[in-house]
Amino acid sequence: MNTPIEIAGATVSPDHFINGKRVASADTFELHSPIDQALLGRISEGRPEHVEAAIQAAEAAFPAWSALSAAERKPYLDRFAEEIGKRAETLCQVESRDAGVLLSRMRHGVVPRAMLNISWFAEHALDLQNRPIETEQAQHLVRHAPAGVVVIITPWNAPLMLSTWKLGPALAAGNTCILKPPEWAPLSCSLLADAAQAAGLPPGVFNVVQGAGATTGAQLVADPRLARVSFTGSVPTAKLIAQAAGANLVPCSLELGGKSPFIVLEDADIDNAARTGALMYRNAGQVCLAGTRFLVHERVAEAFTAAMKAQVEQLKVGDPREESTEVGPIIHPRQVGRVAGFVERAVAGGAKLLWGGQRHAFGAQYFQPTMVSGLKQSDEIVQNEVFGPVLTLQTFADDEQLIAMANGTDYGLGGVCYGETGHATAVAERVRTGFIWINSFGIRDLAAPFGGIKRSGVGREGGDWSFEFFCDVKDIVVPK
Ligand code: NAD
Repeated sequence: MNTPIEIAGATVSPDHFINGKRVASADTFELHSPIDQALLGRISEGRPEHVEAAIQAAEAAFPAWSALSAAERKPYLDRFAEEIGKRAETLCQVESRDAGVLLSRMRHGVVPRAMLNISWFAEHALDLQNRPIETEQAQHLVRHAPAGVVVIITPWNAPLMLSTWKLGPALAAGNTCILKPPEWAPLSCSLLADAAQAAGLPPGVFNVVQGAGATTGAQLVADPRLARVSFTGSVPTAKLIAQAAGANLVPCSLELGGKSPFIVLEDADIDNAARTGALMYRNAGQVCLAGTRFLVHERVAEAFTAAMKAQVEQLKVGDPREESTEVGPIIHPRQVGRVAGFVERAVAGGAKLLWGGQRHAFGAQYFQPTMVSGLKQSDEIVQNEVFGPVLTLQTFADDEQLIAMANGTDYGLGGVCYGETGHATAVAERVRTGFIWINSFGIRDLAAPFGGIKRSGVGREGGDWSFEFFCDVKDIVVPK
């Protein structure tokens, strides 16, 4: 076993979890905190033998787990959710320390949602087999059979939330799973393994293999024995994963980046829009579904800019482990350089800083909440995902110009539209994204579809969409 990692009085295993047991690698990599660059410990690096062991364990566990009915699996998953609940504060402290996620978000959003991700899908799997189609000729017994061994790969910006969002439906449907956590923030996923073990999930049903994406992750997704790959992360990685899975004709679900418009119509409630606008800096802008391209009607641009600036000046930048902090660190020094580079090149190209633009004095991995304006649609900062506390602002004269700008990137994840409800809804109908919030932000329901179009993803998660992906759907036709 490698040395356990101590965080806020809790002990976290840095090792894999395979076939119900902790397995250590001789090779390890360093894990640092984004808050103060402290060395938190060393994490086991998955090698081909660990990937092989995990796949064999998941394959061996599949027949018995998949043979259970959804009702028989439900108590296991309810206990899994309860065990997550028992570790709530530890999960909050640990993910805040290793990923820099705001403690307030962890306590009030992420952990309750992680529990729900498991228990909700366990409940909703119960009526999956109960949806016959009746015609004059026949009864079609539509069956959702578990697909097999599923690999789940998640990013560092929301490891607990996104891992459980995939594990819940995959396990509830009767699959066995291998989770490859993000190497920059792997610890909350290790705690998930503790929760699964305490809940009595049979060995091999849920496995965790730690390691880097380019090695461990790539080995996992290239295996022909997999039934599904479920991925959330960046576009370049998604292309590699799709190629690897495609070579074996393994279906994959891809939830990717965004460059979502935050639209402020002329008839918007400016103060409300500005209050919500400032929320886009939460988690230092490392939120895939945030509205990052502000598109503001030219007649309200000045008022909106002033109102949002006033909101941004109130934001508390600091240590994410303090409940009151609203903007925390950027995950990795490399990512800080990437964010700064976008701003420097935009300014060198003639863009204007409405606020921010510099590294933040709080710490080496902090950047000021920033707004860049004076941009062309073709500018790289308008076209590419920054994934930091850097937003852009462009103005429009009418709805036609707005729609062209809103749809004028390769991404299509989400959006926000502030305006008179009827007007905003009409605009939303024309915006090409997977979802869009009217006069609000972040309202989610587990039954609703979630996912992006264009470069923002392939497939949908949530409710029945998750089950459609994680199951082999079969039609048993019984003539009348
Ligand atoms: P990333 O693509 O670099 O890494 C994501 C995961 O993929 C990590 O676990 C990594 O180890 C693994 N990986 C990397 N290379 C791999 C390979 N060749 N084969 C298999 N696995 C590999 O993404 P990131 O930087 O961790 O996360 C940020 C990105 O995630 C942003 O683009 C963000 O928008 C996106 N994201 C999307 C959503 C969504 O729901 N659409 C949610 C959160 C984050």
